[in-house]
Amino acid sequence: MTATSRIGVTGLAVMGANLARNIARHGVPVAVHNRTAERTRKFMREYGGEGEFTAAETVEEFVEALERPRRIIIMVKAGGPVDAVIDELAPLLEEGDILIDGGNSHFNDTRRRVERCERDGLRFIGTGVSGGEEGALLGPSIMPGGDREAYAEVEEIFTSIAANVDGTPCCTYVGPDGAGHYVKMVHNGIEYADIQLIAEAYDLLRHVAGLDVPAIARTFEEWNSGDLESFLVEITAKVLAKTDERTGGPLVDVIVDEAEQKGTGRWTAQDALELGVPLTGITEAVYARTLSSLREERGRASGVLRGPVPSEEKDRKELVDDIRQALYASKVVAYAQGFAQMHAASRTHGWDLDLGAMATIWRGGCIIRARFLDRIRDAYAERPDLENLLTVPYFTEATAKAQDAWRRVVMTATEQGVPIPAFSSSLSYYDGYRRERGPAALIQGLRDFFGAHTYHRTDAEGAFHTRWAQDG
Ligand code: NAP
Repeated sequence: MTATSRIGVTGLAVMGANLARNIARHGVPVAVHNRTAERTRKFMREYGGEGEFTAAETVEEFVEALERPRRIIIMVKAGGPVDAVIDELAPLLEEGDILIDGGNSHFNDTRRRVERCERDGLRFIGTGVSGGEEGALLGPSIMPGGDREAYAEVEEIFTSIAANVDGTPCCTYVGPDGAGHYVKMVHNGIEYADIQLIAEAYDLLRHVAGLDVPAIARTFEEWNSGDLESFLVEITAKVLAKTDERTGGPLVDVIVDEAEQKGTGRWTAQDALELGVPLTGITEAVYARTLSSLREERGRASGVLRGPVPSEEKDRKELVDDIRQALYASKVVAYAQGFAQMHAASRTHGWDLDLGAMATIWRGGCIIRARFLDRIRDAYAERPDLENLLTVPYFTEATAKAQDAWRRVVMTATEQGVPIPAFSSSLSYYDGYRRERGPAALIQGLRDFFGAHTYHRTDAEGAFHTRWAQDG
């Protein structure tokens, strides 16, 4: 087999197949390979005519088909399979060849793989690829991290296949070792929060404002023409407008209410705990999915636990607009928290992340693409070392303007017994963050009482301990 392919893709499930097609459609010859050869044959039968593909049935053929330095995108199931593929390929590769993991790998695995490849004389790029099946084919948001010089060797291909907004490709080098996969993880975490907030808004519109499903679909469609304009709000309107062929009712009404998860939201929350960053929105979203999955338990509890007596009806029009404002303000908090986490991780790992660039590459191709990412990009352009987005005048104003509605929504939902973990925790975070002095002084007093943990005083340097029982 002659080495005619500029890049190779191994792993031809939905993401790998669509990425390979996207690359070939840009005139780049691509070698394709999959562990199970039948999937490669199927790929060639279906898409072989779309571009210049070389199908390889064995890893040896695959490696032989690639120009040097070899560039290989690994698009297999995250975890052990990525290591298995590296183990298989590494002995066949030569110094300077480049392995690119495009799956949703944990950033610590990526750090380990970067080091492992370095030891073998290979170069490793761990890249986030967002946008799902359609994004991979038509233009994803790409978040590559790892070996910078290796990235330069694939930059042209990556930027050409990525989504493009206002002439700017949604792809940029993120940072060393696991930075690319870290940023993709936080992206997914924000996606969890965004989706949870939308689900809470839907629940309130339906069960507190009393709108039927088609009316809620229209409401989301309307909201998509304002500040909330985003891919997720757009598809919410579409999902809610879908009629079930079997029942003739809304399809959403026959879908089991158990949210599944693959782990990136949980990883984001776990890492926030490690870093000591308050990440309430994303974490509540993970818990909400977990609670949803206790369906049988919930069924039993629903017959036992009592809710509030429904209170009088609110003005529906006002309530709907309040929900819109609460959704926007809570969403600002979720993004502010996610960006604060990336800021903290960047410092901890020495990644020097350009957070404005992250907002820029998330404007197209990815699931959380939204109008207000432009605002986030502008905020970091002005203040690259910004601690928290909430303190930027645009977001300070937006949350201040929305806060009365936000508080009314949280009160009404609580009165009516409708759970809103992401709305209410976002508001609590907002109130906690804007407070110069909070109740943690008492927590320190208690800790010193039972554990002699000491405390600091507001009016003197040093650590203090009080013999509380005697001195009280
Ligand atoms: P997937 O279902 O996660 O994985 C299936 C692919 O992995 C198949 O090609 C399979 O080969 C291969 N594979 C599994 N174990 C293997 C092993 N031990 N050795 C070699 N190959 C192995 O595929 P996907 O949904 O296309 O996702 C690929 C990656 O992209 C994942 O990390 C995923 O999390 C990430 N991702 C997915 C999406 C999405 O929307 N689906 C979006 C962004 C990122 P066989 O055919 O031989 O079984």
